[in-house]
Amino acid sequence: MKISRLIGLGLIALMLSACGGKDEGSATEEATEAAVDEISVSDAELEGNPFMQEWDTPYGVPPFAVIENAHYMPAVKKGILEQRAEIEAIANNPEAPTFENTIVAIEAAGELLTKVSSTFGNITSTDTDDELRALEAQIYPMLTQENNAIRFNQALFARVQAVYEQRESLDLDEQDARLLELSHRGFIRSGAALSPDVKQQIADINTEISSLTTEYGQNWVLETKAFTLELTKDEEIAGLSDDFKGAVWDEENEAWVVGLNRSSYETFMVQSENRELREKLFDAYRLRATAEERDNGKLAIRIAQLRAKRAELLGYESHAHYQLETRMAKTPQAAEDFLLRVWRPGLEQAKLERTDMQAMIGDEFTFAGHDWWHYAEKLRLERYALDDNATKPYLKLENVRAGAFEMAKRLFGVTFVEVDVEGWNPVVESFELKDTDGNHLGLFMTDMYARDSKRGGAWMNDYRSASNIGGEEVRPLITNNLNLPQPPTGEPTLMRFSDVETLFHEFGHGLHGLMTQIRYPTFAGTSGSPRDYVEFPAQLLEHWTSQPEMLEIYARHYETDEVMPIELVERIRLASNHNQGFLTTEFIAASLLDLRWHMLSVEEAAQITDARAFEKEVLEGYGLIPEIEPRYRSNYFSHIFAGGYSAGYYAYLWSEILDADGFEAFKQAEDIFDPATAARLKKWVYEAGGLRDADELYRNFRGQDPSIEPLLEGRGFAVEEAGGN
Ligand SMILES: [Zn+2]
Repeated sequence: MKISRLIGLGLIALMLSACGGKDEGSATEEATEAAVDEISVSDAELEGNPFMQEWDTPYGVPPFAVIENAHYMPAVKKGILEQRAEIEAIANNPEAPTFENTIVAIEAAGELLTKVSSTFGNITSTDTDDELRALEAQIYPMLTQENNAIRFNQALFARVQAVYEQRESLDLDEQDARLLELSHRGFIRSGAALSPDVKQQIADINTEISSLTTEYGQNWVLETKAFTLELTKDEEIAGLSDDFKGAVWDEENEAWVVGLNRSSYETFMVQSENRELREKLFDAYRLRATAEERDNGKLAIRIAQLRAKRAELLGYESHAHYQLETRMAKTPQAAEDFLLRVWRPGLEQAKLERTDMQAMIGDEFTFAGHDWWHYAEKLRLERYALDDNATKPYLKLENVRAGAFEMAKRLFGVTFVEVDVEGWNPVVESFELKDTDGNHLGLFMTDMYARDSKRGGAWMNDYRSASNIGGEEVRPLITNNLNLPQPPTGEPTLMRFSDVETLFHEFGHGLHGLMTQIRYPTFAGTSGSPRDYVEFPAQLLEHWTSQPEMLEIYARHYETDEVMPIELVERIRLASNHNQGFLTTEFIAASLLDLRWHMLSVEEAAQITDARAFEKEVLEGYGLIPEIEPRYRSNYFSHIFAGGYSAGYYAYLWSEILDADGFEAFKQAEDIFDPATAARLKKWVYEAGGLRDADELYRNFRGQDPSIEPLLEGRGFAVEEAGGN
């Protein structure tokens, strides 16, 4: 039973376009008031339910065509009942606790529940509807409730503890020992070893946080939907591209309707020539959820206070100390120090960018925050004359994907072969992955296109994790999802260069899942990797996209087969650092804000009465300039107040230390397919899951600790003088 995985399926999966990452189970916040109570399901309700049958499909993929919405709830209930019985049998086993009858037994429990919830979690992301949305609101609290009950099961924990205490004499191999360590740690970090009275306090806090985060998330969704710009006049649509206008045209209202979702917002802020409307949208975006009845500020304060209290009960200085203990950064100070090393040159760069844009505007008006996107793009076009239409003909989806496969082959000796499997949607394409000797490694299923029923963003997930318990080897079913626009019938899918990077990124998560040689789901593939490491295997592969050797392979004109001119690639490379000061600053501002909310002690948190005032004080303290908004503000920072990223938003940038430094290893070898470097990468990263602590895995691959300089150079920033730390 992959406890962390089930927890990871909650709100986190619903709300974020972040991909791949499933943080280790920590004290869970999606608990609800639903008591552990009677769940029952009759045989009649399960009649003909495909989840109750063996799946006689290729590779054991779910029989998508026969699964109906009505099948989920009865199967979840049955899965919960089976899991409860399994857990009770483990907890009350009259035999003395052993590694097999306790730790492995827990790992193997909940098979049916995992089968249903994986399918449910995937389908609700790719092909949802109102009925499934309503089911989510019922099913996730039930799953969380079950996990909490297991974590606080006293008899069960006593057995885990007993096995843990014998660990030196058990003669466990490395994977067994790791499973024992992670399993025990999960219980301890949830508070299983505390007195009943403290456990009750923690449970109450979890319940309260859960309802607050739900309310926060609902406010966020409602406030995001509540505002729209309706455009009808020529001067209101000035600058907007045909693509964008097509996407936001509302037939019913006979108007172009621009809302506050991130991609519409960014596109409008970039393209619109109408300064007044830009300001209107900008303010609507950044002032979301600040008004009376949907004021998320109050909720953020209360959530931060409760998290601080819970951390104290668990024996930590702050929630951030608790969260970071199992991450690579290890302490909030280390994460903050790191962020500031990138923040300083980023902010300096941003100030230069501001000066350049004011120069472009002249003295017509004073440059302001709502001008940034628009003028940054103008400057980019002026300097690099690069637009997506120049590169798109060279970036055909099938070629790009084949390029990713070829990269994997050259690096790791693995091969992808297209296979005929019925997916969850007609656009799904499937590939079998084979190892160097031609043995089956896993199934890779891709779903590249946007549709109304699919959530935005790009992500990797699995329908089934790798495992090998009791000699029964199971190989993974891994998915990659993108949101490319469907081309008109008969026309090829041509991608933007940034989409190519996204494809390689998700492919990296995919390989992490597919190539794993770990036999326990708890730390196979991407599971069990700390949040500030899990993006590394994905971000690393993005570096290959712009290498001349790779462009030869995949970047060929869809009509002439001509390779993308190197001059175009060079311009892409230079242009990629354009506006990097701004992008770095808005990201780190949000990361610092997240850290500071969660570094509060109980006493400090109790003093805060105004979320925006706290935010202002924090950001001004770091020297943020008024023209830049943090990427998320406290009132709409759903990653941290409604999702699973609290004290973890910095992790994307932290992973970038690793990917920049990791790619440096190939550069130093003067071969992007260097066999020795690739062999270490395969063994210690893509095959190793969470076998050891992330810093050790990384060191084994790299031969040394990561250094921050390649990241700074990669963003076009000056590297600090020696001695700076
Ligand atoms: Zn990712």
